[in-house]
Amino acid sequence: MPVVRFAPSPTGYLHVGGARTCLFNWLYARSTGSKFILRIEDTDLTRSKKEYLDEILDSLKWMGLDWDELYHQSERFDLYREHAQKLLEEGKAYKDGEAIIYKVKDDTAIRFFDVLHGEIKIEADHIKDQVLLKSDGSPAYNFCCVVDDASMGLTHIIRGDDHIANTPKQILIYEALGFKVPKFVHIPMILGEDKSRLSKRHGATAISDYRKQGVLPEALVNYLALLGWNPGTERELFTLPELVKTFSLKRVNKTAAVFDNEKLGWVNGEYIKKLDSDKLVALLLPLLKDKGYIDDNIDQPWLIGLVNLYKTRFNNLNRFVELTGFFFNDEIEYDQESEQKYLVPEITDALEAFKNKLITADTFDVSTIETTTRALVEELNIKSGELIHPLRVALTGGTVSPGIFEVIYYLGKDKVIMRLDKVITKLRAV
Ligand code: GLU
Repeated sequence: MPVVRFAPSPTGYLHVGGARTCLFNWLYARSTGSKFILRIEDTDLTRSKKEYLDEILDSLKWMGLDWDELYHQSERFDLYREHAQKLLEEGKAYKDGEAIIYKVKDDTAIRFFDVLHGEIKIEADHIKDQVLLKSDGSPAYNFCCVVDDASMGLTHIIRGDDHIANTPKQILIYEALGFKVPKFVHIPMILGEDKSRLSKRHGATAISDYRKQGVLPEALVNYLALLGWNPGTERELFTLPELVKTFSLKRVNKTAAVFDNEKLGWVNGEYIKKLDSDKLVALLLPLLKDKGYIDDNIDQPWLIGLVNLYKTRFNNLNRFVELTGFFFNDEIEYDQESEQKYLVPEITDALEAFKNKLITADTFDVSTIETTTRALVEELNIKSGELIHPLRVALTGGTVSPGIFEVIYYLGKDKVIMRLDKVITKLRAV
């Protein structure tokens, strides 16, 4: 059975590149019925932190990726020592103090097959002797990686091409230990928009950052899949099960991919639009609570209505919270320019008349609000914009919102009257 693995080091959070490597391995495994191993490379006991490990596992689960077996290298030091000892006994390695070093023979040519890049040949002359075990007894990455990959039966090593320089060194170890060399698939790096390798300088790179920003896991997984893989068609939206059906290593790109935040936003927006409103509300509830906007007594149907009203207007969950702040927070911030332009003394009477119509109207629903507004516009002999723009600024603080009648409805009569009163008082005081 083919076996693949993802081998993160818990010396930092799971970043976009690692997550994509994991996804490609996972997709390969799930689409071919192979085994998928998660191997924690925590040999650096000082830099590895439980906090990072927890975050990595949590992020993977959040993305919907599971594993068949889990190993920790920190629990396998005996195995590495045994193999180093063997090379020592066979005269293939020597000791330098407590450290065990592999002796690289000159003029060996190393060949390996890379599924994406074809055959790669390297002269061993350039490769220095390789540390197997450091003097503190901990194994070097290139050594324990091979011991594990071989003893876990790995058939395909799918990893970032930043490891391509390690591969010849690892092959020397495979050969020295008499292990079968697996196939390698070195996938191209992810670059930032300036075409340099994606790093913290480019902003968020940790999966947990995207999660905090309100990116849906389905959207992030979809976007990551497209970063370095293409379905061979124009299609861009794939759920995880659809990816399992469509994914193949043959369609992994050979050139680096550029991380495009705008594209991720678009994908996320598409998933938000597709999500059931009650599921979306369930995701938004904790964010709104966190902001102190709502508590457990929130009127669910009202909130579902509000979410539907905004569904096409936000492409991450936090953006919804930003956009709808004025529904919850009475201390709305007025955009100065809009205020100066639209909340002028000449409009005061119209706002007042509108307010009175609302007070006397016996129903309060979107269509009554609309008829009331249109009737008033006619009565005052003004253009509808002359009333609607000032109303929008008075009620929302700015000039951009969904339809004003819906906004009025979702604000509710009391809030609308209160806000109009405030504006009217202020205008009259000028
Ligand atoms: N722990 C290594 C890393 O995080 C794994 C490299 C590999 O896949 O061999 O880069």
